[in-house]
Amino acid sequence: MNIILNGASGSGKGSMAGFLVRDFGLVHISTGDLFREQIAKQTPLGKKVESYVSTGKWVPDEVTIEVLIDRMQQPDCAKGVILDGFPRTLNQAIELDKVLNVDLVIAIEVTDEIVQTRLGGRYMCRDCGTIHSTRWDKIDKCKKCGGIDLYQRDDDKAEFIQKRLENFKLNNSEILDFYRAKNKLFVVQDKIENTPADTYALVKDTVAKL
Ligand code: ADP
Ligand code: ZN
Repeated sequence: MNIILNGASGSGKGSMAGFLVRDFGLVHISTGDLFREQIAKQTPLGKKVESYVSTGKWVPDEVTIEVLIDRMQQPDCAKGVILDGFPRTLNQAIELDKVLNVDLVIAIEVTDEIVQTRLGGRYMCRDCGTIHSTRWDKIDKCKKCGGIDLYQRDDDKAEFIQKRLENFKLNNSEILDFYRAKNKLFVVQDKIENTPADTYALVKDTVAKL
């Protein structure tokens, strides 16, 4: 079973992925995480993509597609994958279609206000990458590994958030059209008062029936 999580930055794709991993044994692949890993290790690929990622610009399609395909070919992906942050362009969706059978696209709809609030309060663990939110979590140490180095991503600074949102909207409607035409699209609304678990409850049964 292969699922795509679609939604603006800060729409809660990462939390949704966590629940799906727990309940369905899929592997969570975030292209943003893959890039950040490479940057942290300062590999040739990491150096190539660093200037894009740190300022919230998109990495060119060829590079992104190659990195994703490489990850999906690892043996742990045999049971299925959850893609988070991919595809972001129609071209990426078309290329993906050639190599992966997508069962469902879960699109999480959020308002700009929610995105601004969430990303502004988002802290990542330097050691394990776990995301914390000032809304739900303490940020003195990592809730998963206990690490004490929690940081804000460069691209979560206010000046880059708006740009990322605009870029997302510009490209996303044609991606949604692409999957709607294939009857794969499932849209959920994420409301400010909802916890990640509330939003997950809206999709769990649909995924279980796949
Ligand atoms: P966000 O959803 O907040 O943009 P991600 O962690 O998904 O954060 O991605 C971080 C950065 O990684 C993006 O700003 C972009 O530079 C790069 N990136 C991730 N996925 C893609 C993609 N599918 N296409 C192009 N660039 C990507
Ligand atoms: Zn941690």
